[in-house]
Amino acid sequence: MEATLMNLTHFRFETDSDGIALATWDMPGRSMNVITPEVMAELAQIIETVAGDGAIKGCVIASGKDAFSGGADLTMLQGLGVEYARLRTAKGEEEAMRVFFEESRRLSLLYRQLETCGKPFAAAIHGVCLGGAFELALACHFRIASDDDKTRVGLPEIKVGLFPGAGGTQRVARLMQTGDALQMLFKGEQIRGLMARNMGLVHAVAPKDEIVAKAKEWIKAGEGSAAKGVQPWDEKGFKLPSNKVHSPAGMQIWPPANAIYRRETQGNYPAAQAILSAVYEGLQLPMDLALKVESRYFAKILRSKEAAAMIRTLFISMQELNKGARRPSDVPPTKLKKVGVVGAGFMGAGIAYVSALAGLNVVLVDRDQEAADKGRDYSHKLMSGQIMKGRAKTADRDALLARIKATADYAELKGCDLVVEAVFEDPKVKAEVIAKVEAVIGPKTIFGSNTSTLPISGLAQSSKRPNQFVGVHFFSPVEKMLLVEIIMGKKTGKRALAVALDFVRAIKKTPIVVNDARGFYANRCVGAYIREGHLMLMEGVPPAMIEAAGKQAGMPVGPLSLNDEVALDLALRIVKATKAQVGADAVDPQQEKLLTFMVEDKGRAGRKNGKGFYDYPEGGEKRLWQGLSDIAPKPLRPEDVDMAELKNRLLVAQALEAARSVEEKVVTDPREADVGSIIGFGFAPFTGGTLSYIDGMGAKAFVDLAASLQKKHGERFKPPRLLRRMAKDGGSFYAAPAKAAQAKAA
Ligand code: NAD
Repeated sequence: MEATLMNLTHFRFETDSDGIALATWDMPGRSMNVITPEVMAELAQIIETVAGDGAIKGCVIASGKDAFSGGADLTMLQGLGVEYARLRTAKGEEEAMRVFFEESRRLSLLYRQLETCGKPFAAAIHGVCLGGAFELALACHFRIASDDDKTRVGLPEIKVGLFPGAGGTQRVARLMQTGDALQMLFKGEQIRGLMARNMGLVHAVAPKDEIVAKAKEWIKAGEGSAAKGVQPWDEKGFKLPSNKVHSPAGMQIWPPANAIYRRETQGNYPAAQAILSAVYEGLQLPMDLALKVESRYFAKILRSKEAAAMIRTLFISMQELNKGARRPSDVPPTKLKKVGVVGAGFMGAGIAYVSALAGLNVVLVDRDQEAADKGRDYSHKLMSGQIMKGRAKTADRDALLARIKATADYAELKGCDLVVEAVFEDPKVKAEVIAKVEAVIGPKTIFGSNTSTLPISGLAQSSKRPNQFVGVHFFSPVEKMLLVEIIMGKKTGKRALAVALDFVRAIKKTPIVVNDARGFYANRCVGAYIREGHLMLMEGVPPAMIEAAGKQAGMPVGPLSLNDEVALDLALRIVKATKAQVGADAVDPQQEKLLTFMVEDKGRAGRKNGKGFYDYPEGGEKRLWQGLSDIAPKPLRPEDVDMAELKNRLLVAQALEAARSVEEKVVTDPREADVGSIIGFGFAPFTGGTLSYIDGMGAKAFVDLAASLQKKHGERFKPPRLLRRMAKDGGSFYAAPAKAAQAKAA
């Protein structure tokens, strides 16, 4: 076929005087290239043309955009699942499976066609090249990446419960030592150009403007079999980087790999298991069969509950929230230029850093110059760490620090678009600060409070303009945690909300918008997790089993570890404040007893003073405090403890709190509850979040489970009315919009 006969929309295709074609991927109307059915169809045409046209020597694939491509359109994969469900009803399981398998391996077959078409293909990569796009590059016979700071390659599919199903597992495992390949596939990390070359994932690195020319040169030179369009793994005598699977060397790899997989995933992620199996089985087969094995696992994982839940929450919902799903559309966007941060302590210093990093000018105020400077020094420290790792230059640090003005003078706050306070958690101090700030800021400046426990509506009473007052709740450490809770006080207006959301977007975090209530949303759920750990301890469950149950349930750390991180004295203070403000019934006496004993009798405040539920020996690893075994009046024997029940208790306690937050209208959108729970406090990601966990097992099963726990462990497990109603009606948080469910429950 003549190149000119091609009908391309998403690629430009031209052949130079040397007979080397350049396919420039540049999708109209999109800022980023993604793999869609249309792109696949055009790629097929390109492959056919290159293979069939005797005048074309080979082809370079590059991008016409700032980045190569972010990979496959996940909504396309979601669509496959929907189609499968439709076919199963219409034509039965077998036919549905057959079609699903064929459809889900189309990309894999296309890439295989590219690498076996008989002509060399080269990928010229600049910017991100991830997932299905990197799999395309892996199928090319030569890969060159730009040395630009923005260039990243990788296979992050595991992060949404999937795995690379277009040849990624097989090609990576044939390019790298098996252990390294498995690590790369398990972690889903994004890798810079130079590192990718050192790892053997790309062949060369060059300045951005030279990658296409160098790729062409490689084709033109035509040296070696690859340049004739033959991949190393298709050559006779190809040797696997780690030797055969069934060899003494192979046997050094697989038993520990399996152990690492268990340790890292606790068996909760079928996609990780599939990677292990696909690589293990695939490495024993020639490429075509290996790809078929990978496809079989891919089709299975694509239909898994875990992948569906993770794609929905961590990709689709998260993107929607980041793009302003909750932003009032009738308020014009604010392009923030200058923000104020009052209180340059632990949190304020972090907020100043992320703001300056996003290019905003920051005024960082504290009680005296020394305290303010100390807050600014935090940015110096973080940037120096980045420089050490080669991720930033001295000039970047200087520029960032130049954007932070540390001062004790409130007058400097003049002209700020937004001021966030992060002073002591004391209503009197906050009231004073609100008055001082409002005395200098302009009429349009929004005031945000980073309080973690004080109701926003109460604080807003100290404000002269409560409609411009909003909660902007960060999580620590600010520079690492992605979530920001925006809290609407009773009088918070929509412009305040819009500006707060514009700010969160500018600093590249993910917002959830919640209504004012004790603990807002995230801390309520976290509190329930920690309390459950406390109560287990008081029941006599061996502490190591409590911690293991937390991790096996999918939480990043056990409840006792977590409490050590946030501090035991803080937990005791919250318990006491709750008792004083809500009443004695709002607090579990066993929990209060435990915390009082730990903090007041034993002086154990957590990691910060080197002793909490754990001991923190200098230079050594932390270990559970010996004294814990004497706390419970009747210690249980490990064999009498039901691990499955511990795991259920730890997740159900949090999910119930999330459901109550919906019932009480603190959270109004299930996407926010789910996204917030995973990125805010690490709620078992494979479930898709607190509410998806309930939906995933079905409201009826969840209510039954909670009710059985209620019978055994008390009222805190009582399922709220909203859930009981859903259980009866067969409703779910996503099927029935939360609002409708609430209306029914009310
Ligand atoms: P911190 O004690 O580290 O910092 C508070 C800072 O405020 C200090 O530098 C102090 O000098 C300054 N300050 C006090 N009074 C001031 C005044 N009148 N004017 C100017 N500055 C003043 O406390 P933190 O941990 O950073 O917490 C700050 C706020 O953030 C609190 O409301 C807290 O509840 C909230 N918060 C904390 C966390 C956390 O994990 N630490 C998480 C979320 C929210």
